[in-house]
Amino acid sequence: MRGAPADHYGDHYDANDHDRTMSAFATLLELQEHDVKLDQLRHRRAALPDRAELVTQTKANSVLAAEIAATSADHDVVAREQKRLEDAVATVVDKAKAEDKKLYSGTISAPKELQSIQDEIASLNRRRDALDDSILVQMELAEPLDEQLAESGARKAALDVQLHEVTERLRAAELLIDTENTTVQAERDQLASQVDPTLLAQYEELRRRLGGVAVARLEGSSCRGCHLQLAAVELERIRKLDRDTVVHCEECGRILVR
Ligand SMILES: [Zn+2]
Repeated sequence: MRGAPADHYGDHYDANDHDRTMSAFATLLELQEHDVKLDQLRHRRAALPDRAELVTQTKANSVLAAEIAATSADHDVVAREQKRLEDAVATVVDKAKAEDKKLYSGTISAPKELQSIQDEIASLNRRRDALDDSILVQMELAEPLDEQLAESGARKAALDVQLHEVTERLRAAELLIDTENTTVQAERDQLASQVDPTLLAQYEELRRRLGGVAVARLEGSSCRGCHLQLAAVELERIRKLDRDTVVHCEECGRILVR
């Protein structure tokens, strides 16, 4: 049909005026299918099993982290006390060495003074023994804490791996849904642009009010939206209307596609 006059297409278009009216409502139905699909995708995204799993594992992980922090704090107390005792031992050892040096320096000959130094050394050694006992107590206190830290540290490492895995799985599942969402949304926007703005606004409002289904087919005498039968008088009234007149179901208020 190369070179056909422009008005040929115009005539052709006008000849299908009835179909155009039909397709305005068909477009609305198709738009609704897309909107319902988008609702389902949103719901599926929110309800992904790995999302709940991530919440559970994140909670378990933070409980464990708090447990580790508390054990570490206990361990720090023990370690600080042990360090304090070891420092005290070092001081006592230094003092004893100094006294020992004095004792064998040959500068002191008075027996009374020598006895006093020996007494001091003996006292320092007793002090050292007591400190060593206290260090042993701290070491015994530290042992189960060390074990607990090693055990919970290993558990934490395993949980971190699981947490990473579930996060990755969730991101992958979200990406699949998001990709599908982008496609459906683009088609939806394309369809919406073909619908009269007033009708579109009516459709949006009905969808909000009626749980997502604003348009329904009229099949026989039943509305496929609410599955109720329309009164014979109403059906007769509808039959007489123009094909492009917007008709609502008298029962549910949905836009009827005739
Ligand atoms: Zn209805």
